[in-house]
Amino acid sequence: QSQGRKLGVALVGLGSYSTYQLAPALQDTQHCYLAGVVTGTPAKEKEWADKYGIPSANIYNYENFDAIADNKDIDVVYVVLPNAMHADFCIRAAKAGKHVICEKPMAISVKECDDIINACNEAGVKLGVGYRLQSEPYTNEIKRVVREKPFGEVRYVSAEAGYRSRSNPDQWRLDKALAGGGALLNMGVYAIQGSIYGTGQNPISVSAQEFSTDPEYFKDTDESISAQFKFPNGATGNIFTSHSANVNRHYSAFDNGWLELNPANNYGPLSGRLSTGEEIKFPHESQQKLQMDDFALHVLEGAPNKAPGEMGKRDMIICEAIYQSIAEGGRTIDL
Ligand code: NDP
Repeated sequence: QSQGRKLGVALVGLGSYSTYQLAPALQDTQHCYLAGVVTGTPAKEKEWADKYGIPSANIYNYENFDAIADNKDIDVVYVVLPNAMHADFCIRAAKAGKHVICEKPMAISVKECDDIINACNEAGVKLGVGYRLQSEPYTNEIKRVVREKPFGEVRYVSAEAGYRSRSNPDQWRLDKALAGGGALLNMGVYAIQGSIYGTGQNPISVSAQEFSTDPEYFKDTDESISAQFKFPNGATGNIFTSHSANVNRHYSAFDNGWLELNPANNYGPLSGRLSTGEEIKFPHESQQKLQMDDFALHVLEGAPNKAPGEMGKRDMIICEAIYQSIAEGGRTIDL
């Protein structure tokens, strides 16, 4: 149906993720390509134009961005800005009539997630969240084992996502106004996602604790958070996220066996095993390439949206409940 047409993608915010992951992946995608950029740094305009052959008509800044509405080369706007800027640019992109991919975390509040979803619905454009693992084969294998139950019912999940970060005290990720939160909104969303696809269910309650060992460096945002979930089938879950510890692991325990990925949530290659001793192994491919092609096929052919806005909102509801539990001394919050 798509007759080989490739969607034109414009990346908004040319920081490290756009530069080192998304733009290179867009050189290999089959159903979309890098057609334009939006940047607030004038020097990057020429740099990106030269490197990727982007015509000057497809280069925007944050002020003239809304004129992208008139640009027929751009089908998809991919927002890769600091978290607190996601909602504004996703809504402007939707109003410009462009399909939207929004990086994770989708926004910094449930209210903002609703605003993005509503803007996309009103404009009749598609919305995806940058959850690259939703398009990734190891993650699909977890979903398959949970769904097909070769080891019986799932009883417990553990998901850890974090890294040690001390390099730059001035980075936006440590600034609550731009990041919305700390480790939880940055890496914690991967652990939340893991707990959900690792059980095949949404949690029904959460209790959480915050750990601070370096209040000087983390004066504005959470350093480490642990949270415990209860699931509808009686399973329990434990997640941990941190800006102080390199943690990157998934474990699901079933009645008659288990599966584990370690690493579970970096750019790959990932690695995993089953309680039978079998290795979980797939050829390594760029997760970003898989993710953007999946989204393009959703737009072009109505293929499933692997990471819809409602999923980003669901995770933000859980993040807000985790922060509420911490603020109330670890009280169990119903979801
Ligand atoms: P960077 O700090 O490397 O880049 C952010 C870019 O946003 C800047 O380079 C700049 O681009 C633009 N920007 C505009 N206003 C500001 C501002 N006030 N402060 C800082 N930057 C600003 O961040 P990342 O690329 O690492 O992260 C961007 C988004 O992508 C985040 O939401 C993050 O969570 C997400 N991300 C997702 C990953 C994934 O695996 N899915 C991995 C990494 C990040 P310019 O100079 O062009 O204006």
